[in-house]
Amino acid sequence: LNVELINTGSELMLGRVLNTHQQWLCRRLADLGLVVTRQVAIADSSAEIKNAVAESLARADLIITTGGLGPTSDDLTRELIAELLGKKLIQDANVLRDIENYFARRNRPRPAQTRVEAFVPEGAMVLQNKNGTAPGLAMKIQSNAQSPKSKVQWLVMLPGPPRELRPMFDELVAPLLKRELVAEKFVCRTLRTSGIGESVVQEKIEMELQPLVLRGLEIGYCARPGAVDVRLSARGANAKKIVAAGEKIVQKNLAANIFGFDDDEMENVVVKLLTQKKKTLALAESCTGGLIANRITNVPGASEIFRGGIVAYSNAAKEKILGVRAEILKNFGAVSEAVAREMAVGAREKFGADFSVSVTGIAGPGGGTVDKPVGTVFICLVSESKSEVRKLLNVWERETFKQVTAQQVFAWLIRMISA
Ligand code: ATP
Ligand code: MG
Repeated sequence: LNVELINTGSELMLGRVLNTHQQWLCRRLADLGLVVTRQVAIADSSAEIKNAVAESLARADLIITTGGLGPTSDDLTRELIAELLGKKLIQDANVLRDIENYFARRNRPRPAQTRVEAFVPEGAMVLQNKNGTAPGLAMKIQSNAQSPKSKVQWLVMLPGPPRELRPMFDELVAPLLKRELVAEKFVCRTLRTSGIGESVVQEKIEMELQPLVLRGLEIGYCARPGAVDVRLSARGANAKKIVAAGEKIVQKNLAANIFGFDDDEMENVVVKLLTQKKKTLALAESCTGGLIANRITNVPGASEIFRGGIVAYSNAAKEKILGVRAEILKNFGAVSEAVAREMAVGAREKFGADFSVSVTGIAGPGGGTVDKPVGTVFICLVSESKSEVRKLLNVWERETFKQVTAQQVFAWLIRMISA
């Protein structure tokens, strides 16, 4: 199947908004077995939109557009596509009522301009928007109904704001595509690993997976800061069996490194494990600047397990707030095993947590020495029974350095808590 994605929005072309729909929709579609063949981003201009949609109509089985369904003068998608397909726009009483309700619930009068959002191209399916006003639209297009070349195409229009588009896709579009377009069974499973490079990951599984590859298994690797994903997929009647057999092999060979599946993030796994074990966590962060606490608190339910964290960036903060001894700081320096240990012990006591983690390191670009080059990090993990320090060398620019260090902390925590 030929799948094309058209992202509209002048703000994308000006670099003012990151085109997250491109990644998000491609990922979701791939999970359904629908791999996007072409994606374009274009400005909100009628000529651009018309050209792009006309071009895609000449090729694709499924076309998805994003943006331009709102009420302002730069929102042109609905009208242009109706015009292109020679469909009349008809006011839909249900949609108008939904829009009115949307504003009524917020105690606001409905702006007159929003009435355009209630116009629906003849024959289009309305995708209700629970998180906004402009509904999405799905159209089944049957070209040359009489000719043997007749083919069915689907055109789906989604609203621009991610918080509107994402639930709409998951709740309404994915089931529609499964029903109408995904003929063959498709199964995919992603195993997420940490603490191991992508080439080693491949080395450890590739050979053993070969027989399954011959039976249709596809293997994909994706390296990210501090994690490598292995994606297994297959199509057809045996898809489920083949992927399950592949998963077993990957599990067996990479067991120590697998932290989760599909959309699992490490912080979610940490929160889940701590919740299950009814244990709590405290943090003392220096060089990660609160990133670990930030990621933990992105997880719903974090309050069950997260006692608190301190960003102790200066020596004074390490000393006064976490109780790191002055002579330890003086003798060993802020980036040292001894300081890491005292930071973690201090945080664990202050917050009364079961586990605590501390991080202290040299993010660079300045501040490195021969003994402690830029990238040096000490991580300390303290539990009821032990305190352990690891020294690592993360040579990256500052932001990646923080990300990678946080990944290492999470990976270690996961191992420690599961043990
Ligand atoms: P609205 O009713 O809000 O006008 P719309 O369907 O007309 O919605 P747009 O006007 O194109 O959509 O986009 C609205 C906002 O949604 C943009 O300002 C932008 O913040 C966000 N947005 C649009 N397209 C994308 C995209 N491809 N990736 C990420 N965000 C996007
Ligand atoms: Mg708009």
